[in-house]
Amino acid sequence: MSESPPGEQTASHDQQDDGGRVKPYPGPAGGWGSLKAGIGHILNQGGTLAAASALLRVNQPNGFDCPGCAWPEPTTPGMLEFCENGIKAVTWETTPKRVGRDFFAQHTVSSLQQQSDRWLEGHGRLTEPMRYHRDTDHYEPIPWEAAFNLLADRFNALSNPNRAVFYTSGRTSNEAAFLYQLFVRKLGTNNLPDCSNMCHESSGVAMTESIGTGKGTVTIQDFELADCILVIGQNPGTNHPRMLTELQKAAKRGAKIITLNPLKERGLERFKHPQHPAEMLSPTGGTAISSTYLQPVVGGDLAAIKGICKRVIEMNDDTGTILDRDFIEEHTTGFDAFLEDLRATDWQQIEQQSGLSQQQLSEVAEIYTHSKRVIACWAMGLTQHKHAVPTIQMIVNLLLMCGHIGKNGAGICPVRGHSNVQGDRTMGITEKPSTAFLDSLGKAFNFKPPREPGYNTVETIQAMSQGKVDVFFAMGGNFAAASPDTVHTYQALQRCGLTVHVSTKLNRSHTIVGQDALILPCLGRTESDISSTGPQSVTVEDSMSQVHASSGSRKPASPLLLSEPVIVARLARATFPSDTADWDNLEKNYNLIRDKIAEVLPEQFHDFNDRIKLPGGFYLGNPARDRQWETATGKALFTIAPIPDLTLPAGQLRLMTLRSHDQYNTTVYSNNDRYRGVSGTRKVIFMNQDDIAELKLHDGQSVSIESHFADGVQRCVAGFRVVTYDIPRGCAAGYFPELNPLVSVNSTAVGSHTPTSKFIPVTLSPSS
Ligand code: SF4
Repeated sequence: MSESPPGEQTASHDQQDDGGRVKPYPGPAGGWGSLKAGIGHILNQGGTLAAASALLRVNQPNGFDCPGCAWPEPTTPGMLEFCENGIKAVTWETTPKRVGRDFFAQHTVSSLQQQSDRWLEGHGRLTEPMRYHRDTDHYEPIPWEAAFNLLADRFNALSNPNRAVFYTSGRTSNEAAFLYQLFVRKLGTNNLPDCSNMCHESSGVAMTESIGTGKGTVTIQDFELADCILVIGQNPGTNHPRMLTELQKAAKRGAKIITLNPLKERGLERFKHPQHPAEMLSPTGGTAISSTYLQPVVGGDLAAIKGICKRVIEMNDDTGTILDRDFIEEHTTGFDAFLEDLRATDWQQIEQQSGLSQQQLSEVAEIYTHSKRVIACWAMGLTQHKHAVPTIQMIVNLLLMCGHIGKNGAGICPVRGHSNVQGDRTMGITEKPSTAFLDSLGKAFNFKPPREPGYNTVETIQAMSQGKVDVFFAMGGNFAAASPDTVHTYQALQRCGLTVHVSTKLNRSHTIVGQDALILPCLGRTESDISSTGPQSVTVEDSMSQVHASSGSRKPASPLLLSEPVIVARLARATFPSDTADWDNLEKNYNLIRDKIAEVLPEQFHDFNDRIKLPGGFYLGNPARDRQWETATGKALFTIAPIPDLTLPAGQLRLMTLRSHDQYNTTVYSNNDRYRGVSGTRKVIFMNQDDIAELKLHDGQSVSIESHFADGVQRCVAGFRVVTYDIPRGCAAGYFPELNPLVSVNSTAVGSHTPTSKFIPVTLSPSS
């Protein structure tokens, strides 16, 4: 039986979790609510002038890239090119609050463990390197040089390089990621798990098999041409808010926006653009976004999309004019088997497993088949399920049927959550690198990179829990909070000989220490990075394969901060004193890093330093967008997939974890969730009113939640408030990281090993 983890009980010093209040939110997404919230965050963080000047440079040419999500910049950015959540991400970094040696002298690590995630991060920017001292249970200052030498000694003392693991968060720039993977491979391992393992890995695996690329095929310009946009398992109003600008424009020009989401999300219902004065002053409730809004049951997307495909076939049987036969003939394979499988799939199963009626799905098929240019977007609502890979492939099937891949205004668009998560992969941050990449890397740096695949995130947790990891090194992120199976993950981390975190702010992971631990504070995106050769800029790649520069200009939060590329270069010099790579100059001049990237990835990054000077940077291209299918057959592949029976035993609900509106990944800005009408608490479970009645519970009641996985481990959390919400029967939802203790590390998506955080079988009982 695993009790609730440390840090959940107390929420002192910050916005108290007082059980909260729930009152339906009447307003549109965006609008005055966003303006008020944005200004509130700027004032709340302090350093208003600093925040305001930073916001004038975010997402601007010659400015810095928003440290939030990976939504691209428009062709011509507006003067204020940010959303409400961009304000939160930027002011969270520009805060004048500091966490230095005095703070750590006051707080033992054990006491920090008892604090909430918001309390920890709310204390501000880290200012100097710190080392954990087990005898005092405190972090104490350590000079950079000593920290690098300590690490070098640990790495060079490893009995096997695979006893070290190097995690990456999607905020790491291309330059830092490239040097990081080079360092790790020179050490001799491919243990490079990243946050993508827990989010869009399923998309990459699915699309690579189906169309030969793991990246979306659309650009932001395509949104201006599409006449039908599918938004599936995604909540852009909170997680990619500037996407609402494109959806609003599309809706206003008559494009059909079809949403599939178990939850009614305000951003997909109506939106008022906070930067359009006329709209703000108009009495209307905002622009209606979704023309069709369907609520499949949690996990029902595969059945739903398959139902739409089946209906398209039936319509084509009647008219013979629906399918793009020429495209199918010339560019695809596997269509006949797919057709046969659809014909063999009965509507009753589709309705039962999707939670939607044949009529509803037929209406979507009607809109789809009358559309000339269709874009399909999705996010975690699809990727964190056992059958995530076939679900995403079914979306690809749907678009292939009518040739909606490889033409302007159409295509597939997995929307990434972290600003450079896609770029990190392109730079080689993966536990399973391609042979071509390793060959090119080895040639460019004259060494033999390791070929054996490394650990992904779930395998890392399992290896740590088996005592197979001496050093866990994290470049950014908040591994302990982001990972599933919280109590198990904590224990696994605590088994490591040394845990190291390169971070901008204090977070949960710093309190879950190995036998020894280091915190290495780094520069943020907003801050200037000046070396002996002058100011340095980095680059990022957004969700649509656009690579652009990011240059901070603010005075660093502390003179002791180093940039991520410098941290890696100095660590490499300490670890490999006689290495041939020119780490010294690579740290001083990032142009040299980009030259090396161009040498290793010439097709995509040739003339990198010149092309990065272009306004908005450059597009990396995508073979599938040009109908070049880099698959095993050289053609796009129609895949077939049985509809899984997801029926649960009586009394069990399908729980999915999600973000609140005042949250970015594991960063919690407040205990409020404006669009869902929740304030002052994060310990809630959204439920259907009939389920509440059937389980003899009542709205507002405090409950314990226990999950049920095949591994037989009991996992339970307590003290969650029942909130009546518009969600299908048998389904429930709540926030991560608070509900991550319920997710089994052994329950992952087939093919991608992504934790199934969107389908947690649970039972509820009144909290005692
Ligand atoms: S949409 Fe994403 S990248 Fe853009 S400003 Fe908002 S949080 Fe930042």
